[in-house]
Amino acid sequence: MIKENLELVEKNIVSACKKAGRDRSEVTLIAVSKTKPVSDIRQAMDCGITVFGENKVQEIRDKTDEIKEPLSWHMIGHLQANKVKYLPGRVCMIHSVDNVKLAAEIEKQFAKTDEVIDVLIEVNMAQEESKFGLLAEQVPDFVKEISQYPHLNIRGLMTIAPYTEDSESNRVYFKGLRELKDKINEMNISGVNMDTLSMGMTGDYQVAIEEGATFVRVGTGIFGERDYTHIIK
Ligand SMILES: *Cc1c(COP(=O)(O)O)cnc(C)c1O
Repeated sequence: MIKENLELVEKNIVSACKKAGRDRSEVTLIAVSKTKPVSDIRQAMDCGITVFGENKVQEIRDKTDEIKEPLSWHMIGHLQANKVKYLPGRVCMIHSVDNVKLAAEIEKQFAKTDEVIDVLIEVNMAQEESKFGLLAEQVPDFVKEISQYPHLNIRGLMTIAPYTEDSESNRVYFKGLRELKDKINEMNISGVNMDTLSMGMTGDYQVAIEEGATFVRVGTGIFGERDYTHIIK
């Protein structure tokens, strides 16, 4: 099943790139393996996937302990400052930076191993109460403030669009995120040149690619529905 799903996702990515006049190499697929067993990850690896996304620190620790092959792990979920200490050496990018306390803790923990970590600022484009992330208008000042941290490489922006049956309705948020990235680049903040947009999930990644996504984060479309009933919080 995973193999067939990946073939379909790949086909959809290629056609979205074609439609937008973009090269396939501009878009990286992150296989979101949260809640899924290592055996599923290995099936995806057998199909050539090397980039995986997780949203819980404990799960990243367990899976990176078990899988020794060199893979790129992305922390895509909400991150509490007290858990950052487990991430150095395990992840290549953090997609969910949205407060100064968290940024300061990332700086502190990654300085210890002298790692510079790629980070994205999470933006709540649709202003949903239930979601984490900064409001778009807060992002420029926030970027200025955290651009002082030498162990954070601010690569771009991330958003989680609303859940919808109609992916077209999220186009406005993806377009808005791209415009926000361009605006920040025009501000010429020292050390900041954003080249990354992490946007688009199973329901809307093709629209996100048309609007400039460089990372799409696809879980259900690759691994099937998630079962949360056995997860102890
Ligand atoms: C779970 C998750 C995804 C993947 O969602 P699907 O709808 O299963 O593709 C993408 N991004 C984040 C931040 C997630 O937590």
